[in-house]
Amino acid sequence: MTTMTTMSSRTTTTTTSSDMSSSKSHTRRHQSSLRATNNHNSSSSSNTSKRRNRSHQKLKRSILIKAAITDNENDIVTRSNVNDSDGKKNKNKAIVVGAGVGGLGMASRLAFNGYKVTILEQNDSVGGRCRSEQFDSEFRFDTGPTLLLLPDRYREQFTAVGETFETYVSIERCDPAYRAHFGDHTTLDLLYDAEKMRKQLDDVEEGAGGAYLDWLGRARASLDYGVAAFIDKDANSVLDFVNPQRVVPLALRVNPVDLLLSQHRQMSSYFKDKRLRALFTYQNLYVGLSPYNAPGVFSLLAATELTDGVWYPMGGFKNVGNALQTLCDKFGVETRLNSKVTEICTQEDASVDEKFSSTGRKVTGVKLEDGTVLDADVVVANPDIPRVFDDLLESVPEAAAEASRQEQMDYSCSIIEFNWCLKTQIPDLLHHNVFLSGEYETGWNRPATPEDFAAPKQHNFYCCNPVYTDKSCAPDGCAALMIEFPVANIQEQIDICKKRGVPVPTEKEMVDAAREALFRRFREAGHGELSEIIEKEDVRTPAEWRDMYNIKNGAVFGLSHGLLQLAAFRPPTRTGIKSLDTPSVSGLHFVGASTRPGNGVPLVLMGVKVVAEAILKQHGSFKT
Ligand SMILES: Cc1cc2nc3c(=O)[nH]c(=O)nc-3n(C[C@H](O)[C@H](O)[C@H](O)COP(=O)(O)OP(=O)(O)OC[C@H]3O[C@@H](n4cnc5c(N)ncnc54)[C@H](O)[C@@H]3O)c2cc1C
Repeated sequence: MTTMTTMSSRTTTTTTSSDMSSSKSHTRRHQSSLRATNNHNSSSSSNTSKRRNRSHQKLKRSILIKAAITDNENDIVTRSNVNDSDGKKNKNKAIVVGAGVGGLGMASRLAFNGYKVTILEQNDSVGGRCRSEQFDSEFRFDTGPTLLLLPDRYREQFTAVGETFETYVSIERCDPAYRAHFGDHTTLDLLYDAEKMRKQLDDVEEGAGGAYLDWLGRARASLDYGVAAFIDKDANSVLDFVNPQRVVPLALRVNPVDLLLSQHRQMSSYFKDKRLRALFTYQNLYVGLSPYNAPGVFSLLAATELTDGVWYPMGGFKNVGNALQTLCDKFGVETRLNSKVTEICTQEDASVDEKFSSTGRKVTGVKLEDGTVLDADVVVANPDIPRVFDDLLESVPEAAAEASRQEQMDYSCSIIEFNWCLKTQIPDLLHHNVFLSGEYETGWNRPATPEDFAAPKQHNFYCCNPVYTDKSCAPDGCAALMIEFPVANIQEQIDICKKRGVPVPTEKEMVDAAREALFRRFREAGHGELSEIIEKEDVRTPAEWRDMYNIKNGAVFGLSHGLLQLAAFRPPTRTGIKSLDTPSVSGLHFVGASTRPGNGVPLVLMGVKVVAEAILKQHGSFKT
C-alpha cells in the first residue's frame, strides 16, 4: 500500500501500489507531506533485508561470445572466446555489489569478457537512483535522472559489449533544451541554433551574443580535451595534473586559470547581466555546487547541453536501467535482488602485488545479511563509496581511517522531490525548466530550516514536465510535474541548526515550507494557483534518499565536485600523496557517483569503462 496526498481536497487518499512499477521496498518513501517524519537516525534500508524473495536469473548456457575490447591506452584490440558451459571452472568469479547503472554496466562488461558474474542488490528492483515510477497507472515520473546528456557515453557502454544503445532505448532530443525562469519572471530558452541564441542574447545585453559564442567554444574545448585528459584516462596521481601529454592539448585551447578559478568569475568576464551569468551556471545544481565554489571547468556541463543536446529516453529513464539489465541477462549475469551485502570479505596474502594492494590484503568474496558467504576473485562495489568504507570493510584495518577522512569531505546537497499529478498542463513550461532566484548569490544557499523558505525569498530549483516530449507520462490534457528542490544534506542540516542554536526541524516541517515556497514562486510568475490543479502528490525526502539507496547524508549527488574532490583527489585509489590515498585491496574495485570520475549517469558509465579495463588488465579476460 502506498498513500498519496490528494491536494485539491487537502485530504490523504490511499491507493494500492499494485500499479506502481517501483519496488515495494520503496513504498516507505515519504509519500505524503502529512506523514513526513524526521527519521534521520533510522537504520539504512532495514526493510529490504526482510524480504528474501530472491529472483535468480537463469544463467544462460553455452554462450559463445566474441569479445572485442579496446585497450584504452594502447588501442590494442583483444579478443576472447568464451564458452560458458565447458569453460566455467576456469572463469574468474566476479561479484558486483549494487545494481545501479554503475553496477549493471560493470556486470555486463565483465560477463561479456568471460567472468562468471553475480550482482547483488539490496532492493527488489534494479537501476538504483535511475528509475521511473508509475502512479495510479496513469502518471509516470522519473524520480532520479531526467536529462540524458552525452548520449555517446551511453552508446559506448553498449558497443563495448557488441550491442547498439538505440536497439534498446529510443531517445529524443528535447528542443529547446531548457527554459530558464528568472527571478524577475522573465524567461529565456536555451536554443541549439547558435545564431538564434546569439540574437536572443544580444537583445538582453549588447555584445552578449558574441561573448556567448566565444564562451561556448572554450567550454566545448574544456569538455573535449578535459575529458580526454582526466576522465577517459584515470588520473591516478597529482603528477597527472602536470603531465604534458595530458595537460598541453587542453592548455593550448583553454586558459588554465579559467578552468580552475570559480565559474562565477569566469562568467563575469563574459556577461554583465546577472541573468546571463546564471543561465550558464545553474547546471551546478546537478553536482551539488554553486557558481561560487564550482571551478570554471564545469562550464563543460552547459557546453554539452548546448552542443550534444539534452535527450530524453522515451517511456522514461527506467528504460535505461532495464536495457542495462537486459545486457546482463544476455551475458549470463546472475542477478539477486533483496540481497543486501553486509561485508566485503578480505584476507591477508603475502603474495599480492603491492601495486594493487596497499594493505597487503586481497578480496575473497562478500557476506550477505542472512550470513551467506559468496566467494569471488573480484568484487566491484557500486554503493556510495563513503558507505562502503563506513560499513562493508570491517576486515580492513585501514578502512576506519579512510571512513573518517571521507566523513570530513564535502557532500552535495540533498533534495526534496515533489511529484505532482496535475489535472491540467501549465502552458509556459517546456520539458526541462530551471527556476532561478533573483537573489543570485544567496539563492544557492541550501535551505536547512523552514525559515529558509520564507517569503520573499526565492530559490533555485529544477522542474521537469516530460509531457512536453512524451505524452505517455500522463493522461490526455494532464501533466506529471517533478520538482527537484535542493536542500541541505542531513549532516549539513544538523551542523547549520547547531550553529544557529535551533532544533533540527522535522522533515514534514521542511516539506510543508518547501511546498509553500514553490506555490508562491509559481503564483508570482503568473502560473496561477498550483494547489488547485494538483490531484495527487508524492514526495521524497533526504532521509528517504539515504535509506532507499544507502547514500551517505542523503546527499543525492554523492561527494561534491569541488577542485579538491576531483580526478586524483576523488576516492579511490591513489594520489601520490599518502595521506590522501584510499587504501587498496587486491581484487576490490569501485564504481559509482561518489568515486571517479563523478556524478551523473554518463560519468558513472565512463568510470565503469576505466575500471572494467583496469580489471581486465589486472585479472585478465577469460579465455578458453
Ligand atoms: C533526483 C536526482 C536527479 C538526477 N538527475 C540526473 C540527470 O538528470 N542526469 C544524470 O545523468 N544523472 C542524474 N542524477 C544522478 C544519477 O542518478 C546518478 O549519478 C547515478 O544514477 C548513480 O548511479 P550509481 O550506479 O553510482 O549509484 P546508485 O544508483 O545509487 O546505485 C547503487 C545501488 O547499490 C545498491 N546498494 C547500496 N548498498 C548496498 C548493499 N550494501 N548491498 C547491496 N546493494 C546495495 C543501491 O540500492 C543501489 O541500487 C540524478 C540523481 C538524483 C537522485
